[in-house]
Amino acid sequence: MVDETPRDTEVLSGKVVVDREACMGSGNCVYWSPDVFQLDKDGIAAVIGDVAGHAERVRLAMTNCPTSAIRLAEN
Ligand code: SF4
Repeated sequence: MVDETPRDTEVLSGKVVVDREACMGSGNCVYWSPDVFQLDKDGIAAVIGDVAGHAERVRLAMTNCPTSAIRLAEN
């Protein structure tokens, strides 16, 4: 059995950032987690919401980003 709790905790406790240089504007993150990500006027993803309460969807957004542009920042 795989315990998902540690990764959930990691996402919840981390600050999510988008590497704007790496983002290609695919919108995958907006699809998976629209409460946390939106595309800005330049078509690049921006973090617009709190990660708390959206850990699973944020993780899906990170996993499905084609350029691995979504990262957890060090504090
Ligand atoms: S999924 Fe990745 S490449 Fe696509 S808009 Fe979001 S951050 Fe950018």
